[in-house]
Amino acid sequence: MKVLVVEDESALSVQLAHSLGAAGYAVDCAADGDRGDFLARTEAYDAVILDLGLPRIDGLTLLRGWRESGLQVPVLVLTARDSWHEKVVGIDEGADDYVAKPFRMEEVLARVRGLIRRASGQASPALRCGAVTVEPRLARVCRDGVEVKLTAHEFRVLSYLMHHRARVVSQGELTEHIYAQDAERDSNTVEVFIARLRRKLGANVIETVRGLGYRMGS
Ligand code: CA
Repeated sequence: MKVLVVEDESALSVQLAHSLGAAGYAVDCAADGDRGDFLARTEAYDAVILDLGLPRIDGLTLLRGWRESGLQVPVLVLTARDSWHEKVVGIDEGADDYVAKPFRMEEVLARVRGLIRRASGQASPALRCGAVTVEPRLARVCRDGVEVKLTAHEFRVLSYLMHHRARVVSQGELTEHIYAQDAERDSNTVEVFIARLRRKLGANVIETVRGLGYRMGS
């Protein structure tokens, strides 16, 4: 899973990126509206955290443009403290949720998890598929109730497949959702991650759909 942070306060942006990274997400950061717009339109994100007061293009203008052009990515808006007006306008322009500054990082992470869960049609906070359970809140994976340690990339591959269970996900789509924008990408490495996940979680948990991609559950 991959998240975009559009925030011009660099200390806050670094803090968000660090916490999201520790929670298992690939993270890209944009420090102004132009860059945020470019990344949101060219990369595949599972959620966007959007500050409203930004240099070059403000957050509401970005959000309006994204929704007008059909971009459906879940957006969490960061509003100024006590600004009911920003909350209302943000939601009217297509925000899915908001957090007022200053905020606790735990709240932002919980809201991002909630947005991603709802966008993928999952009701339960824990994702289950056969013997495998993923708890996004703890970035924890279990097989038959026993915790299994995964690398960050393995976790993102598994998490993406679990959030899109019963659907065939192509290697290209997986690649787009597990690497930050500046990371070197090689879609062949997806095969390596899948092989390792099968070794750790059981050979049958991830099905290969020949020529199309991978699927978990049915
Ligand atoms: Ca700002």
